[in-house]
Formats: sequence, C-alpha cells, structure tokens
Amino acid sequence: MNIAVYPGTFDPFTNGHKDLVQRASSNIFDKIYVCVVEKSNKDTLFTSAERIELAKKSLNGVENVDVVGFNGLLVDYAKILNASVILRGLRVVSDFEYEFQMSSMNKKLNQNIESIFLTPSESYAFLSSSLVKEIAKLGGDVTPFVSNDVKQALKKKFKQ
Ligand code: ADP
Repeated sequence: MNIAVYPGTFDPFTNGHKDLVQRASSNIFDKIYVCVVEKSNKDTLFTSAERIELAKKSLNGVENVDVVGFNGLLVDYAKILNASVILRGLRVVSDFEYEFQMSSMNKKLNQNIESIFLTPSESYAFLSSSLVKEIAKLGGDVTPFVSNDVKQALKKKFKQ
C-alpha cells in the first residue's frame, strides 16, 4: 500500500485542499490521511474538533481518504499510520522556503519518509484558508472556495 499523510492546520478546509487530496488519491496514492494539527502554533479561528469535522464533511464521498487529528511529531505519526510519504501543496514561491526547511528537517528525523509536493490546479493557486477567512469576515461570498458546510460555519463564527 502506498500511503501518504497530508498534514496541515486546515483552518478551515478549502476547495484547494480538496483538489489536492482528490488528485493525489485518484492518481498517486492508495490511501491518504489528512492529518489536522490539533495544537497549532497559529491562532486558529476554528477549534481542532471543528477543523476535523469540517475537513471530514468537505471530503464526504472522496474515496481512500481519512481525516485524523494529531499532535507531536509528524514523522512519528506517519510511521504509526504506515505512511511513507508526506504530501504538501506548493502554491507560490513564498511557500517554498518554509516547505524546504520542513521537508529537510523531517528527512533528518526519519530518512524513510519522503516529502512530495503537488502544485494546485490553476483555479486554486491563489486560494488560502487565511484569504477565505478574511473574505468571510468582510461579508464576501466564499461559495467558490469552500464547501457549503465550511461556508455555514464561517457565517456562524463571524456572526458571534
Ligand atoms: P499549514 O498551517 O501547515 O500551512 P494549511 O492548512 O495552510 O496548513 O495548508 C496545508 C497544506 O495545504 C500546505 O501544504 C499548503 O501549501 C497546502 N495548500 C493550502 N491551500 C492550497 C491550495 N489552494 N492549493 C494547493 N495546496 C494548498
């Protein structure tokens, strides 16, 4: 089995994330675990339980994918899940430096786990969770960028 972990904050899960998972699961991997970082060092809008729930709902119907929450070292968690690949997305040049640093460090921590990067479909190249939150906060329409569940959850958050 060719298993990959796809780690991230997913605050919240977007259509860009989904696109990456779908392409990776249909063309490359037998199984993908979307690994939601529970204790993120970023200030998150959604709780870890909400981020997991929204990722699950957004991926409803996509085969060979599971959503799990995790804390601690990703390479250790990947090993527990029998995954040999860390999947990440590379949108713009500014993603590169951080991703390069992370993959080099993960390689040092476990030489048997490779990082693989996919570029997004053209229509999602500009899309990020932060932008989606900003648009929702300002009352803009996020329909093209997220699932209906995420859209409703954003509406609720910004009403509070
Ligand atoms: P993190 O906090 O770890 O960067 P994110 O939830 O922001 O978590 O992103 C998780 C992964 O998904 C990252 O590898 C990121 O580059 C990728 N990603 C985010 N948005 C998109 C998108 N629109 N298209 C492709 N990949 C994306």
